[in-house]
Amino acid sequence: MITKNQVACDVERLLAFGVKNFALSAEDAEFAHNALLDLVRLSEPTKDEVDVADVYLLDTPHTLLAPILDYAEQEGIIESAERPLYDAKLMGAMLPKPSQVIGEYNRIKEEKGVQAAMDWFYKLCIDSNYIRIADVRRNLEWKASAEKADLVITVNLSKPEKDNKEIARLKLLPQVAYPRCMLCFENLGYAGRLNFPARQTLRFLPLTLSEEEWYVQFSPYVYYNQHCIVFSKEHRAMTMNEKTFDRLTQFVTEFPHWFVGSNACLPIVGGSILTHEHYQGGGYEMPMHTCEVAEWFESGDSEVRLGRLNWYNSVVRLESTSRESLVAYAAKVNELWKGYSAPEVGVLAETDAPHNAVTPVARKKGEVYILDLVLRNNRTDETYPDGIFHAHPEHHNIKKEGIGLIEAMGLFILPGRLQRECAEIAEILMGKDADYSASVHKDMIDTLKKQGVAATREEADARIRAFINETCVDILRNTAVFKEDEAGLAAFRKFFQEIYKAVKA
Ligand SMILES: [Zn+2]
Repeated sequence: MITKNQVACDVERLLAFGVKNFALSAEDAEFAHNALLDLVRLSEPTKDEVDVADVYLLDTPHTLLAPILDYAEQEGIIESAERPLYDAKLMGAMLPKPSQVIGEYNRIKEEKGVQAAMDWFYKLCIDSNYIRIADVRRNLEWKASAEKADLVITVNLSKPEKDNKEIARLKLLPQVAYPRCMLCFENLGYAGRLNFPARQTLRFLPLTLSEEEWYVQFSPYVYYNQHCIVFSKEHRAMTMNEKTFDRLTQFVTEFPHWFVGSNACLPIVGGSILTHEHYQGGGYEMPMHTCEVAEWFESGDSEVRLGRLNWYNSVVRLESTSRESLVAYAAKVNELWKGYSAPEVGVLAETDAPHNAVTPVARKKGEVYILDLVLRNNRTDETYPDGIFHAHPEHHNIKKEGIGLIEAMGLFILPGRLQRECAEIAEILMGKDADYSASVHKDMIDTLKKQGVAATREEADARIRAFINETCVDILRNTAVFKEDEAGLAAFRKFFQEIYKAVKA
């Protein structure tokens, strides 16, 4: 049982965190103080002297929020399922207004540069609990050594799995068409619902890209350092054309310490949201970015270098110091690829629907713009009903979802269920007698058992990880439209010749 006075002290501690990390003025602090009291339904603050010294050492507010959420639940202010909505409301009551955040960002940018300003904004998003960094830190992450470049494997535990009771309840909720999607402008400040996240702590920064209004915000799930989302103010479908390359390169002109890329606009090979134009970027060196160019080709344009990247899937590398030349060149490659077939290796641009698309990723190194175009194809057939150039069925126990931009670059985000399942597999490898004949992991377990009984849990875990690592490399190779065999390389080289011809034409 938490008493009124206890929670009133907790409110003082949370406020102290806000005052320090959001640099609240005396007036704004008092205003936030009263807003918090109201949310917790207290008519006055505590009269006790509250010790807040330890609060100043915290790098996330989640331990301060927990007892207030417990109290709110105890008093019936909220139900258990509403906790993520309520903590956003509490933090939102202290967080500076969107225009103030933009103003402060611009001030720091003016004084210390764009990187320092972004670092400040990123910290704000963690301090506000918009990025639930305590949950993110629970994710498993390891490096998978591999031939061309080490991959990064993460098991995502930060998205809580819903139980059946909750799923049933969510089904009964009325369908609301607002906000139109997770990336819409109208999310700003939205209180959320049981089936839509609260966004009182969402803040984003305005950008002008291709003379249009765009914004940049951080992803609340941060799959890697400073994982950002760049989105159009207008809710409109993803497109891929010259303007895309213009916006991506403009973005890295403004943020030269970041990469930015776009998912392809086709299902299977694209991202999960195709209805709202957006890109993803951030301050992280992707495994693909550590690879060298395997061979350079005649580009047909003295301003642009054209190469084949030494990576697991099929990447056309473009480099130039001239942004305009690069954008025009990329547009030609994109147009060519959309209609390009190489039937000798099973690449068909169109059957009942178009299949070809690119996944572009832009970066800047000094004065040089680098644009990697990952060639994608989403055709399916009887053998591969989920996609010929998609994770093949024997890998679906590890990863079944589409391989989007992030994974195409070698950072794998695997489902949270794997943690529990791998623990069970480890037991079996250590000799536990269990019937796994119906398990999705049956083939994997059979393969691993051939290595004999694992003496320790560590040994079992290491074997499982090694298996997952190999699987992820193999999945990337599955997505390659031109395989690394003789026929595949010949077909890929022919495509480079066709690029040259198209540019010269
Ligand atoms: Zn939208």
